[in-house]
Amino acid sequence: MKPNKDHYKVIILGTGPAGLTAAIYTSRARLEPLVVDGPSPGGLLMLTTDVENYPGFADGIMGPDLMMATRAQAERFGAEIVLATCEQADLTSRPIKLQLDDHEVTCDALIVATGAEARWLGIESEQHYRRIGGGVTACAVCDGAFFPGVPVAVVGGGDSAMEEAHFLTKFASKVHIIHRRGELRASKIMQERAEKNPKIEFIWNTGVEEVLGDGRLVTGLRLKNLLTEQESTLEVSALFMAIGHTPNTALFKGQLDMDDKGYLITAKTSMQTNIPGVFAAGDVQDTAYKQAITAAGSGCMAAMDAEHYLEALES
Ligand code: NAP
Repeated sequence: MKPNKDHYKVIILGTGPAGLTAAIYTSRARLEPLVVDGPSPGGLLMLTTDVENYPGFADGIMGPDLMMATRAQAERFGAEIVLATCEQADLTSRPIKLQLDDHEVTCDALIVATGAEARWLGIESEQHYRRIGGGVTACAVCDGAFFPGVPVAVVGGGDSAMEEAHFLTKFASKVHIIHRRGELRASKIMQERAEKNPKIEFIWNTGVEEVLGDGRLVTGLRLKNLLTEQESTLEVSALFMAIGHTPNTALFKGQLDMDDKGYLITAKTSMQTNIPGVFAAGDVQDTAYKQAITAAGSGCMAAMDAEHYLEALES
């Protein structure tokens, strides 16, 4: 989709909660932003069902409904939203140059809110039950309540796996943490918390070979002990992936400062990256919280930072 103009004061990459919140704030500041959907319009919330922890919705809201409403709110204030993929970005040129599919556009300030993708094991059965919402998910906070009184499994050995497992014990009868090694990567305090929880059981040195089910719902897992190669079956109703996230930052390698996992690094007291006029918001720069509300909050901050940056340019 071709943007209406060749030059914008602000371009926002990404339409998850961070990008759309930045769009609301910049459009209300009369900066007439261009907002680029990218390959996952609406971001990770489009893949979730009930969102029960976003303030303001006493009865919860479906993830896609929340994103459609936020999108409409941004459009109401004049944000132009285009479905396009940013193929190239020259962040050091002034104005900043972006290649959106076949069109080059320029901007004075850029907000990167391209999000992060949950990592998956990459096995066929996992993808099947994930696609149809049958019990493979990467978000315990979103989906844990759907599995009351039944055993579930979490894959991973980091802080996310400990946190997800602990959270899931509120609902599940038993939470099995399946980890590929014999020791955890998680911080001591998170490990201790998981170890002390009587509902959590660890399965060490083990990989998930196959997600078993009736075609519609998950019924168990085929596991393999990676030391002995012995296979076993575990009965569970859901599999929660917690093997890390991959931030969508490949496009900016060599230009924006990133940590060793590819998360963008922003200033301590603002959403400014190492390049003046380029800001980052949401999961693309969040190694710790990864919640819709924190993404929206950082989108607001990035928008206000961009507004101040543009004011300083003009004065
Ligand atoms: P992480 O620390 O990168 O841990 C990922 C885990 O998944 C590791 O144990 C890893 O195993 C395992 N893993 C990776 N690929 C795998 C695969 N293909 N198959 C099976 N297992 C695989 O990721 P995270 O737990 O999401 O944490 C990310 C960051 O957020 C960390 O800095 C963490 O401290 C932070 N965080 C903090 C909190 C908190 O403090 N409340 C909560 C969540 C996250 P190996 O150990 O063998 O590599």
